[in-house]
Amino acid sequence: MTLLRSLRLRLTLWYVLLLAVTLAVFSAGVYLALRENLRSNLDSSLDARASIVAGLVTDTGGLDVGGVEFDADVDDEEFTRIFDSSGAAVLDSSGAGPAPAVDSAAVERALRGEETRRTGRSAGDESLRFLVAPVRYEGEVVGAVEVGLTDEDVSETLRSLLVIIAIAYPLVLGVTSAGGLFLAGRALSPIDRVTRVAQRISAEDLSQRLDLDLPDDEVGRLARTFDEMIERLDGAFKRQRQFTADASHELRTPLTAIKGQTEVALQRDRAPEDYREVLRGVNSEVDRMIRLVGSLLTLARADAARITINREQLSARTLVTDAVEQVRPSASEKGLAMTVKPGDDVGLVADQDLVLQLLLNLLDNAVKYTPAGGSVDVSWRAADGQAEIAIADSGPGIPEEHLPRIFDRFYRADVARSREEGGAGLGLAICRWIAEAHGGSIEAMSGPEGGATFTVRLPAA
Ligand code: ADP
Repeated sequence: MTLLRSLRLRLTLWYVLLLAVTLAVFSAGVYLALRENLRSNLDSSLDARASIVAGLVTDTGGLDVGGVEFDADVDDEEFTRIFDSSGAAVLDSSGAGPAPAVDSAAVERALRGEETRRTGRSAGDESLRFLVAPVRYEGEVVGAVEVGLTDEDVSETLRSLLVIIAIAYPLVLGVTSAGGLFLAGRALSPIDRVTRVAQRISAEDLSQRLDLDLPDDEVGRLARTFDEMIERLDGAFKRQRQFTADASHELRTPLTAIKGQTEVALQRDRAPEDYREVLRGVNSEVDRMIRLVGSLLTLARADAARITINREQLSARTLVTDAVEQVRPSASEKGLAMTVKPGDDVGLVADQDLVLQLLLNLLDNAVKYTPAGGSVDVSWRAADGQAEIAIADSGPGIPEEHLPRIFDRFYRADVARSREEGGAGLGLAICRWIAEAHGGSIEAMSGPEGGATFTVRLPAA
């Protein structure tokens, strides 16, 4: 049974079975067609012979068979007999020797004008084909003629054909089985190669590829598809590992800070004010961790598609005004001018809480990264069936080399600056997820003379 688990063997078996059946049907067809053909040739010879013999017979007041002659050499292979109108044999080519038995029913039918054919045996036990036919003279049936011809040639030819078939049939099947096995082996050997190499690629080392130099056929495409899949898996695993490493690192920073502060505080007795100072530090680090863990949780739930998006009709003006009002105190505290450009309202369909979170992230960043005295401008408009909200600041902007990556998780253009502001590089990743989950997009632009502009596009109502 284990043998049948080989596709190669199963393919060959099916192929040989099909060939065996086809060949058997073909051989039987050839045999039957040849037999039919040879028999009808023999019957035509009998017809010709009977009509020659009948043509030599005359009837002038009695059957005259004087014109009929026999070939003496062929005695047992040919046979001729003539009957008169009473059914009595008047001439027999076997002469005085033993003659085949008379089929009197056939003779009677011949005298009534019908022909009869049969296969029988000669006196010398040769297999003969007989024809009993009427003899007509001037349109009248005057007697009957019986001719016989050996059918040994027919049997001999058919026997030879059977021998040829009996030898050729197993031979052809044997050769094609071997050929089939070889061809199937050749066709399937790349699959074995793919399997062997694939077995070496483990989850720990996804950097390996099959890299098989196969033609662009079914197996080649399978191998390439497999490589592409490993590539994607490798990417996903790497991102996963990187994410875990980054998350641990981000969590360790506030914990190290807390540990440092508490350890120094515990080294000796201190005034209550000092303890308060330490607790304030610890508290701010804990805040930082709460924000980080909150962001991680949002992203994890987003990845697991566990955040439901409650779409509703919203107004861009209301959303922007709400978000701006929430960050205005911190902007004023920093001395930033925050303006909302007035304009026609644009309706959009989105989840209010999520879009508000998106706008707050962008506004927080603008306030965070723009130095005192700068400005933050927020505007909206309808564009190509979408609602477009833009947040532009007069800060330092984002260097061009960082622009393509700032939406990546934990990516920060200016690590020291971001840390100092309590950021972990997850805000924009969450923004991008929110925009894309709504079927929208987010884009960052920065000019050479500074200033960052974030543009969010969401489906319009
Ligand atoms: P973070 O918590 O560090 O702010 P974000 O994902 O919100 O993380 O932002 C990623 C990085 O993009 C930031 O570290 C910062 O370098 C850059 N960035 C974001 N917004 C601005 C902005 N308005 N001006 C300049 N740089 C920005």
